Amino acid sequence: MKQQTEKNRKQPFGYGVQEGLICCLPAEAETVQEIYRLYIKGISIVQIAKAMTVRGVLYRQDVPDWNKNMVARILDDSRYTGQPPYPAILEQNLFDQVYGLRQKNRSLQLTNQNIRWIRAKVSCAQCGTRLIRKTDKRHRGTIWCCPQCAMTTRPVPDDELVQLITSKLAAAADALEHSRLPEPGSPITLQELCLRREFDRALYAPQPDVEQLLALSQKITAEAYQRSQCSSIWLTAQIRNRLLAWQPDMPLKQEVFEAVVSKILLTAEAGIQIQLTNQQIL
Ligand SMILES: [Zn+2]
Repeated sequence: MKQQTEKNRKQPFGYGVQEGLICCLPAEAETVQEIYRLYIKGISIVQIAKAMTVRGVLYRQDVPDWNKNMVARILDDSRYTGQPPYPAILEQNLFDQVYGLRQKNRSLQLTNQNIRWIRAKVSCAQCGTRLIRKTDKRHRGTIWCCPQCAMTTRPVPDDELVQLITSKLAAAADALEHSRLPEPGSPITLQELCLRREFDRALYAPQPDVEQLLALSQKITAEAYQRSQCSSIWLTAQIRNRLLAWQPDMPLKQEVFEAVVSKILLTAEAGIQIQLTNQQIL
């Protein structure tokens, strides 16, 4: 039974599992369609999230409050068009329309901005040296050259570069939102482990004591915070908070960018990797 529930949870909004097969949940499927229609009408992601919360639509069984990321995830999920094994919930046409709009909105927000602060971090994927931006007259485009190892990129329009960076960071923010625990490998203290066990016992008691649960969860949070202070995770938590506070449908702010990104590593084919300020690579 428990296994069944967990399986259901991992399905995208709109789908459930019945007898081992993925099926549409009609009420949720209607909500998905509604969200797409609202977005096309020009309603913002944040407004859509508010509307869903107000209407009392449950995102998950125990999640009545919608946030922008939940809506964004639904708007970006191509499985709704009927990618196997998922039955179709949306017309391909409706999905494509929204996809186009999403791309346009993202790049529009940044094209008009001065992105000197982004350019300043563009570095060579081969040797890490800061790249020089050149306007290549032959190809009528912007190329990037490495003064150290002579790597030269294909022409990369500024819009495209910004869009690559934005979508990579947006994906990271999305992934972070799903991991509630600190990154794997961070050592947990014995104290914290005991508190967690105590919390579990209290939670599954025949008559759970809410006060006690709250007190325990506060202790666990405090312990986890302490732990994070003593390691590099602290930086990760900072990155995490910055990324989560940034709304992927809003322009990327210099402040967020500077706090999160140390280098943009660019390859000759204009592939990018992002080195975060804690040296982690996206
Ligand atoms: Zn180089």
